[in-house]
Amino acid sequence: MEGTKIAKRFEGKVAIVTASTQGIGFTIAERLGLEGASVVISSRKQKNVDEAVEKLKSRGIEVLGVVCHVSNAQQRKNLIDKTIQKYGKIDVVVSNAATNPSVDSILQTQESVLDKLWDINVKSSILILKDAGPHMSKGSSVVIISSIAGYHPPASMAMYGVTKTALLGLTKALAAEMAPNTRVNCVAPGFVPTHFASFITENDALRKEVEGRTMLNRLGTTQDMAAATAFLASDDASYITGETLVVAGGTPSRL
Ligand code: NAP
Repeated sequence: MEGTKIAKRFEGKVAIVTASTQGIGFTIAERLGLEGASVVISSRKQKNVDEAVEKLKSRGIEVLGVVCHVSNAQQRKNLIDKTIQKYGKIDVVVSNAATNPSVDSILQTQESVLDKLWDINVKSSILILKDAGPHMSKGSSVVIISSIAGYHPPASMAMYGVTKTALLGLTKALAAEMAPNTRVNCVAPGFVPTHFASFITENDALRKEVEGRTMLNRLGTTQDMAAATAFLASDDASYITGETLVVAGGTPSRL
């Protein structure tokens, strides 16, 4: 976004983005911050939190960094408590954390791995919103990060894909539950060359195959995902709730 003039849709707003010290989450936090939000970033490792806080501060962004492994109840509570202590309210929550620990087929996946996938990819989104919900008032919004893999879970990440399918349903259900004060929407990214997707994007043959499935003939960028998330979180989307925006360059997903 160097050199581009961007809107200031989040002035006076407070935004929490989980798993936000690198990759898509970091760029979402950066985008919301550049648009005027006070952003609360977090991830598992203090060092990563400190480094990301410095990067955002150097861009003039008001930021608080908190260590939060999303499946740790104490750390989730601390994330919300620290946000309220410093900023007094929550306007936006972006639930971005996920794990993909296995390439096994679904029926070969160990029970402990199934538990971990549900815990981090689905349950933690619910639990963080349970903690944040009481602090969210009229006009607030939630964006859940799913994946293109949620539409057609690929063999190499089938169970991960199924947890991402669950987030599409969770978005609909929570949109009804949190209405009318809070809108709940979802972004389903295509492949983006981050650490998370490096096993695909750093393999030439796989990368070309993924690019070939897009209409735009390229991978996504973290900025593509941040722009869509910022739109859904902003008042520009004030009549949109319960929806999933696929941001995947035309990769087949649904009609
Ligand atoms: P990434 O670049 O690998 O970044 C992951 C971030 O999450 C890091 O800041 C990491 O920091 C943090 N993190 C990891 N586990 C965590 C946990 N249990 N609790 C809290 N923080 C945690 O990943 P990404 O590609 O941006 O992925 C972000 C989201 O986009 C995920 O939901 C993913 O499923 C989705 N997505 C990605 C792609 C893609 O192609 N990249 C495509 C579709 C959907 P620490 O190590 O310090 O915890």
